[in-house]
Amino acid sequence: MKIKRAEKYGFCAGVRIADKKVKKFAELGGRDGQILGQVVHNERVVDEMESLGVPTIDSLEEAVSGTIVFSAHGVPPSFHSTAQDRGLKVLDTTCPFVYDIHEEADRAVARGGHLVFIGEPHHREVIGYTHDRDPETYHILTTLEEAEQVDWSSYPELKILFQTTLNAEEYEDVVRYIESKARKAERADTICYATKENQDAARELCSDPEIGLILIIGGTQSANTRHLWELCREHKPSYLVHSPEDVQPEWLEEVETVGVTAGASTPDYVIEEVEEQVRKLAALHAPAS
Ligand code: SF4
Repeated sequence: MKIKRAEKYGFCAGVRIADKKVKKFAELGGRDGQILGQVVHNERVVDEMESLGVPTIDSLEEAVSGTIVFSAHGVPPSFHSTAQDRGLKVLDTTCPFVYDIHEEADRAVARGGHLVFIGEPHHREVIGYTHDRDPETYHILTTLEEAEQVDWSSYPELKILFQTTLNAEEYEDVVRYIESKARKAERADTICYATKENQDAARELCSDPEIGLILIIGGTQSANTRHLWELCREHKPSYLVHSPEDVQPEWLEEVETVGVTAGASTPDYVIEEVEEQVRKLAALHAPAS
């Protein structure tokens, strides 16, 4: 069994920094720390942080003392002042690319623009961009049907922004529709480079004739991992796996080469464990010589 990893996969710079910051906090004896939402969308990383004494909580109200960690996805700006008012210290691991989008949105609104976020309304990153804003100043959508329900010509100017981890190509028809109806529309290139690189490398795996199966490794709540899977399954048999136990022996039947990629929140050790499992299963089922 041959395994081919994508040219680019796994942890991005933003996640690497978030992971390091929390580990350093724990190493330096940081006590009474808690992470608001998964620091990165991967259950293994969450368990690891918990074992280091930094558990994950779901809401700011649950933090009564100590340090609150804001994840790489960012938070609504008001969360910083709320944390301060409640006497909490803040360890901010928000990715700089996410901050760029906050700033770009602020500038557009200050010019009188209306914001259009292409993204998932319940994703923490998107909540961060929108929670503190007047709902009259923005729309969040992902489908053409949703776009068709809005009179875009009623706004003097639109600013279109993408959640960082989307596959932009999937939303081209939605954005084109909005642009065709708007008086003035400007789209910001806010898909993160790491997401693009992982997606481009996954496309290369898809076009590799040797590869019979692709495994996409990542957390259950990782949007960018899911998008990689959606992209791969269009071209090759593809499975989303969260841990080595998810790999099913029957997937490997008659497959000589397995392609492997991973979402931006997947640590290297999970990728290695999955590959090890593939080798083990392949060896178990190899025909006796
Ligand atoms: S995927 Fe991009 S935007 Fe998200 S944390 Fe990583 S580097 Fe930052």
